[in-house]
Amino acid sequence: MVRASSFAVCVSDHEPDARAQMVVWEPFMNIGLFGGSFDPIHHGHVALARAAKERFELSRIYFVTANAPPHKQRQPLASYFHRYAMVALATMGEKAFVPSLLEAPGGAAGAGTSSKSRPTDQANANYSIDTVRRMKQSLKKIDRLFFLIGMDAFSDIAKWREPEALFRECEFIVASRPGYSLADVANALPESLRPARAVSQPFAKQPAKGDLVLRGATVHLLDSVHQPVSATAIREAVVAKKALRKFVDAGVEEYIRKQALYS
Ligand code: ATP
Repeated sequence: MVRASSFAVCVSDHEPDARAQMVVWEPFMNIGLFGGSFDPIHHGHVALARAAKERFELSRIYFVTANAPPHKQRQPLASYFHRYAMVALATMGEKAFVPSLLEAPGGAAGAGTSSKSRPTDQANANYSIDTVRRMKQSLKKIDRLFFLIGMDAFSDIAKWREPEALFRECEFIVASRPGYSLADVANALPESLRPARAVSQPFAKQPAKGDLVLRGATVHLLDSVHQPVSATAIREAVVAKKALRKFVDAGVEEYIRKQALYS
């Protein structure tokens, strides 16, 4: 049974005469969608999800492993199956964290059981707007969908497919980083949603925190996520035969060793 975190009031209009009496309390949920290549999933990802869950009372966060992320097409990734398995291991201790198969390989790209996925082409890439639309089909109209993302990825959001539509479909929760200002966040928006320079200029000296609510885009900033770790550094640590425990969950470390990933 899914816990409802908040409530909305709906008034039935089927019976105009009874309209005043027909007040229905309908539960709605705040849901998070967190996409990534997760190659591998690490403490930075989990810290972002935990902070978002607490601040926005998210009932569930779906960790969507990208089969073929469009922005990582030149780099060979570990197979989708290995990356998904590590996401499942890293999220199993947290009730609200759900590993999602929404971008599981259906076609040729990234499928197979070899330890590496092939670099993908544009036609096979997973686009977040498609994933968000598919996820929304399984939600109620009144549920609120939040898209979780780190500031480095958010900086390129204007280059994503149908970025304006993505902002229309969900609110964003962005893990900010020291050194970024509110103006940097505003300037990363797609051009049609971006405030005029004269408006965003005064924000250049304000750290990226709080909420940015504009016509067509709502961006909530989390400034409490401080895990300076990346999947790249972890893959390099494996090659250098360094311990991984400070970067990843114990189960994930064990999995990497057993499957001889990244070595
Ligand atoms: P790589 O080093 O291979 O580029 P990564 O560590 O950035 O990978 P991704 O799977 O590409 O991991 O990232 C998924 C999402 O998690 C992105 O939105 C990214 O900005 C965010 N993210 C990655 N690392 C961190 C971190 N240390 N703290 C907060 N967010 C992060």
